[in-house]
Amino acid sequence: MKVVVIGGGAAGFFGAIACAESNPHGSVLLLEASPQVLSKVRISGGGRCNVTHACFEPTALVQYYPRGSKALRGPLSQFQPKDTIDWFAQRGVELKTEKDGRMFPVTDSSETIVNCLVSAARAAGVEVWTGAAVTQISVDGASRFRVQVKSRSVDSSGIQETGIQDTGIQETGMNCDRLLLATGSHPLGYRLAASLGHPMMSPVPSLFTFNLSDPRLQGLAGVSVGAVKLQLLVENQKPLEQTGPLLITHWGISGPAVLKLSAWGARILHETRYRATLQINWVPDLTAEALRSRLVQAKVDVPKRAVLTHSPAALPQRLWQRLVSAAGISAELRWGDLSKQGLNRLLLELQQGRFEIQGKGVFKDEFVTCGGIDLKAVNFKTMESRSCPGLFFAGEILDIDGVTGGFNFQNAWTTGWIAGQAIVKSIIQ
Ligand SMILES: Cc1cc2nc3c(=O)[nH]c(=O)nc-3n(C[C@H](O)[C@H](O)[C@H](O)COP(=O)(O)OP(=O)(O)OC[C@H]3O[C@@H](n4cnc5c(N)ncnc54)[C@H](O)[C@@H]3O)c2cc1C
Repeated sequence: MKVVVIGGGAAGFFGAIACAESNPHGSVLLLEASPQVLSKVRISGGGRCNVTHACFEPTALVQYYPRGSKALRGPLSQFQPKDTIDWFAQRGVELKTEKDGRMFPVTDSSETIVNCLVSAARAAGVEVWTGAAVTQISVDGASRFRVQVKSRSVDSSGIQETGIQDTGIQETGMNCDRLLLATGSHPLGYRLAASLGHPMMSPVPSLFTFNLSDPRLQGLAGVSVGAVKLQLLVENQKPLEQTGPLLITHWGISGPAVLKLSAWGARILHETRYRATLQINWVPDLTAEALRSRLVQAKVDVPKRAVLTHSPAALPQRLWQRLVSAAGISAELRWGDLSKQGLNRLLLELQQGRFEIQGKGVFKDEFVTCGGIDLKAVNFKTMESRSCPGLFFAGEILDIDGVTGGFNFQNAWTTGWIAGQAIVKSIIQ
């Protein structure tokens, strides 16, 4: 029985290893279009690879997936972050947890993860071809596939990139009994899935920063605020909300709150061409009444201090000064002289300031695609196609994506592992 895995990323590797380890006598061939396997793992998490997240309750975990949360509930009960930690530990890789729950290898190097996956694949007997792009798949009889491969250099010795003889472009056809399609967000992979009749959700970017040019934030690049509440306001849409740290950048804003909002608003923002109104509550820990009382108290406590230089809110001084100016309060005005109208304007700036998003920027540490194979087309107990028996899917090719924090790799590990196990079961049955 021959299994072909298309795509040498996190999901493809996990699937291929699971399959080869549970069926040592079978043959598993992994085809990777680019010259190198695991490219995204290598650059992930700023070169540190945020492998997973320290959230061990599947029902809580699924809340981090703007797309796929319902479908992932079952799979995450089979293989969740605890299993990821164990999987790597059994192969000599220890993970550590950072304060915000993100988990990285203790070496802080993505190479540790790449090397681990490559060694595990080699030990399990997975054959890897790099520079081998699958261009066509056809169903050839019951559960048999014909795969058309355009290959440049074939590394039949295993996974090493060294010593490859470039043989020029060749077209090869091969047959196999089971196929795992794990091509990530590559358009060719989407085309392959669609060519076999699978409905697709159109791909749009997720996990990005917001571009905005607003005098209130100009010159404040590098200033960060521990927690803000953001509301995305788009006409005829329910406002989307996210809370978390925010970082002011040269082009606009970034940080966990923005990235989470970009993920939940990925489709809406794509439709509006990344133009929308954003309401920022810079002091979300206080209710409007509590903040008002604080400002009123400042009038009593420090009547002679300038509003500009004394902030009763825990905000970076330079940001406070911008918000005070934006509220039309002059630099010299003292707390004791602040009118009721001035105080109301300041409250609005602090908790309901509106900013216009004018485009999207790139978050270099992680990005992901929203869209892919429509989840209705997949049996999530096995990751097998409902319409094409013998064909399995894993990873980002599915219409599943998580917010930043290790959730996207967890999807790849979980769905890859389940697909690998299910392929073996389907062969043995
Ligand atoms: C810069 C960056 C940093 C990231 N950091 C993190 C992080 O720290 N934590 C996290 O959880 N997520 C992170 N992500 C997201 C994560 O990398 C992806 O969700 C994950 O790699 C998806 O795995 P995959 O195997 O499904 O797809 P991919 O990793 O994209 O792998 C798919 C592979 O298939 C190959 N391929 C495509 N078409 C064909 C074909 N026709 N034939 C043969 N091969 C083909 C591609 O070349 C590719 O190697 C990051 C993403 C980026 C871009």
